[in-house]
Amino acid sequence: MNLMKQDLDNIDTLANSITRWSSKFQLEVGQHPVAVTHNPLPAAEAIEQNGVGAKTAFDEFRKNIAPKLSGSVGPRYLGFVTGGVTPAALFGDWLAATVDQNVMVPGDSISTAIELQVLQWLGEMFALGHDFEGVLTSGATSANLLGILTGRQFAGETQGLDIASEGLGRAHIEIFSACPHASLRKVTSFAGLGRESLKQVPCITGTEQMDVPALAKLLNLSTAPGKIVVASAGTVTGTDFDDLLAVTKLCKEFNAWLHVDAAFGLFSRLVPEMRGLSEGINGADSITCDSHKWLNVPYDSGIFFTRHPQILNRTCSVSAPYLKVTDELPALMDRGIENSRRFRALPIWMTLKAYGKQGYKNLVQRNCGQAKRLAAWISKSPDYQLMTSCKLNVVTFRPTNDSVSTPEVLAKINNSGLVYLTPGMWLGQECIRAAFSNWRTESGDVETICEVLEAAASAD
Ligand SMILES: *Cc1c(COP(=O)(O)O)cnc(C)c1O
Repeated sequence: MNLMKQDLDNIDTLANSITRWSSKFQLEVGQHPVAVTHNPLPAAEAIEQNGVGAKTAFDEFRKNIAPKLSGSVGPRYLGFVTGGVTPAALFGDWLAATVDQNVMVPGDSISTAIELQVLQWLGEMFALGHDFEGVLTSGATSANLLGILTGRQFAGETQGLDIASEGLGRAHIEIFSACPHASLRKVTSFAGLGRESLKQVPCITGTEQMDVPALAKLLNLSTAPGKIVVASAGTVTGTDFDDLLAVTKLCKEFNAWLHVDAAFGLFSRLVPEMRGLSEGINGADSITCDSHKWLNVPYDSGIFFTRHPQILNRTCSVSAPYLKVTDELPALMDRGIENSRRFRALPIWMTLKAYGKQGYKNLVQRNCGQAKRLAAWISKSPDYQLMTSCKLNVVTFRPTNDSVSTPEVLAKINNSGLVYLTPGMWLGQECIRAAFSNWRTESGDVETICEVLEAAASAD
């Protein structure tokens, strides 16, 4: 008996029951606990020897796994910067698995062309101008890795080295950043530059924003012939933006590669009144953005943009004769880490088609308004205080009373099952973060969150 063949023969019935379950999950997720904070390990279980077929596997998923999942697609999961999933993106993701294209080289399907189209749409939506090309990645960490690897290749070339073929050898490269995302530490280690090559640029006092005159001093003092500056367009706690106009100018002067981590901050460019925050970003050499955050596309999905696709290509390209199928379009495996690649463009294509630029502009404005409302409530609350003013979609706060433990209050908030928030650090002080980036969040949810915060402060 071939179980796989049996399942295929029965695919219509299976698909119907899984679709029904999925619709119900999507419709009811807001009524379930937002997080499963006490999660016992599953009972030890040996691997199936002969298999049970898809129906039984699905029954077991429903019984043993589904009840222990977070409601991260729901409206009150405000941990990290999570984002949800739009209906069209969800279907796009299903379809991507259904058709299972390998977007490695062009020549056998339209999938490479669709990824290029989606990148062009995204560049237009973010008002990046026409100079940027890119590639879809598994997230912002891998986009940051591409930024550092491409910057490293550039920095090598300024020293007469082709790092992609010769290795790091004599290369001397330093990275300058003020308040990088934690992933940058991982990335510098992957890139063989080492965490010690990361030079800390001071921040402007009381902010997470780079002190640009201090950067100028450091660049001036540096004896490294290769320089990479990593700027932030939206830090995770304060949502601060570096002054990209000034940083771009300095990078030109010192022949430094400028990589901008704009994992979620890039979305502020959808709102013309907020575009000033990231002014100058068009002069960056490379940019990171995430789709699985504010674009509300399922994990995992990120974007890497660069104005120097040839340098990216020299960094990533491997030429093997069996991979060369056609010259008409670029092979996207020559622009990224993976060779075999998922049809990650399809959920993005679906959601951009379905809701358009305006739909996303509305989403960004709605989420920022919700963050402002929560911040206004906190600023009036006797129990909590804001760490910094709310500029975008993130609210950071802590209990007013110093004798109250921030992690304990956070645990009480999360144990309510009504909302999920995550911890942060603001200028060395523990705090709680609430990040709004889900299309499903409504003003009623903000009220619920305020009620939960109030209860967590008064209960002992
Ligand atoms: C989320 C985030 C990252 C890491 O992104 P992943 O998608 O989790 O890899 C990097 N930088 C910033 C600014 C982020 O917000």
